[in-house]
Amino acid sequence: MLLITCPVCGNVGDETDFHYGGQAHIARPASANPADVSDEAQRDYLYVRLNPKGLHFERWRCDRGCGKWFHMARDTVTMSIKAYYPITEKPPREIIAEIPPTNPWYGVFDESQAGDGGAR
Ligand SMILES: [Zn+2]
Repeated sequence: MLLITCPVCGNVGDETDFHYGGQAHIARPASANPADVSDEAQRDYLYVRLNPKGLHFERWRCDRGCGKWFHMARDTVTMSIKAYYPITEKPPREIIAEIPPTNPWYGVFDESQAGDGGAR
């Protein structure tokens, strides 16, 4: 069981006090005209998700506290929480540096995208 601390309001609870929102950092295909989006891009946006063994980036919502969404970096093997960071930001720089080359998240973020808040 996960013991989660909301980075917005400080509410501490187990995972049933929060709502899992799936994989983080899924970008909607950019287009002014939806008909211009390829079937493959639309399929990837809707259905294709990473399933790493190790560090993973997720969205969570604080159901029994403030109701806000936030990002969490979690190790899927050890179940340890590596960082919380705002829903509008990319992972903190030190977490990006921890992504091993064997993880499908490797290379997804670059240093210029890194957030700077919320690491623990
Ligand atoms: Zn909260």
